Amino acid sequence: MTSARRIAAGGAIATAAAAALTLTAKAGGRWAVGRTEARLCTTAQLPPYMASERARALHAELWVADLHADSLLWGRDLLQRGSHGHVDVPRLLEGNVALQVLAASTKSPRHLNLDRNDDRSDDVVLLAIALGWPPATWRRLLPRALYMASRADRFAARSDGRLRIIRTAADLAAYDADRGARPDITAGLLAIEGAHALDGDPANVDIVADAGFRMMGPAHFFDNAFAGSAHGVEKGGLTDLGREMVERMEGRSMLVDVAHASSATVDDVLAMARRPVIASHTGLRGVVDSVRNLTDAQARAIAETGGVLGIGFWPTVCGGTGAGDIARAIAHAIRVAGIEHVALGSDFDGAVPVPFDATGLILLTDALIEAGLDDDAIRKVMGGNVHRLLAETLPPGDQTNGAISSAALAAPSVSTGR
Ligand SMILES: [Zn+2]
Repeated sequence: MTSARRIAAGGAIATAAAAALTLTAKAGGRWAVGRTEARLCTTAQLPPYMASERARALHAELWVADLHADSLLWGRDLLQRGSHGHVDVPRLLEGNVALQVLAASTKSPRHLNLDRNDDRSDDVVLLAIALGWPPATWRRLLPRALYMASRADRFAARSDGRLRIIRTAADLAAYDADRGARPDITAGLLAIEGAHALDGDPANVDIVADAGFRMMGPAHFFDNAFAGSAHGVEKGGLTDLGREMVERMEGRSMLVDVAHASSATVDDVLAMARRPVIASHTGLRGVVDSVRNLTDAQARAIAETGGVLGIGFWPTVCGGTGAGDIARAIAHAIRVAGIEHVALGSDFDGAVPVPFDATGLILLTDALIEAGLDDDAIRKVMGGNVHRLLAETLPPGDQTNGAISSAALAAPSVSTGR
């Protein structure tokens, strides 16, 4: 071997060693993130789930939709059935879920609490590094959101048609037609949890809309440039930038989601909204009196916009740890906001304890029967209302093409770290 060849071979070995190290680090990172997910995203009752004959018959014919899950965050391959967490394609199919909203949660403070958080710390950057996400996602939040959208698109592309990402009313209509013939398919819809993902610029609404995001909350766990959070320090309302953002979102057919918003932000959004407003994962103060939950007046105002309330599955919104507690919280929301305006907002994979994973939604159908709802009411709550809302509010069609390419641009070179 000539010395030049020897150097080349040495270089190749060094490159291979570096690649092996990177792979090992990534596997280690995924393992550590998986342990964190398993510790935070608990399930009170593990599958399999037993339901009544009547619930089984009814659940099988429902169009089930859930308005909030954080499954894109944890690094799991959502095409594989996970041994922890709550949502992946196999479990959505087994649970007869027609549509799962997949949220991009781009920044989460350390020592998260319901009452008071500032924006100085950021746990999501630790996940991004541990999972080997592109370096742009370590520094800024918009690339983080776009990278999560690209993960969803990659899952869909590799799913043999089992997973679709719905972006337009035309996508929804085509999906419905296909699902009639082929029940082994499910769908996702992209959302953003907290407008800090816009990196301070309301014009970035166009970028997230192009990437296919169809709902966004003004704030998550801390106050940001656009709005106050229910869990922030100031807990103020919409800022001028926030008002511009809401206008731009409505102009791009994105739903404004007031989950996590401060009471002042909820009121400000409702005062200016011209299109339906949603609370994707929430509770009512009549069930649990907390800053996180909506007053009866706010719930009714959301209904008046034509929007829906996704009732959450964890104790501080539904008041308990079982399917019966969720059903009672739903029954209360129906009394306050009306049967057309109540939906599911599990917060699966959202670092809160829930009674069951996505395969256990049949337990909720059963509990709603127990709570005295008739079949038509159950059909609406379990997903019918979300279907109506999306059919009415999604952009009509042909806005998907630019979407995938801009998401891909944000993450040009990543083939691992799904
Ligand atoms: Zn949340």
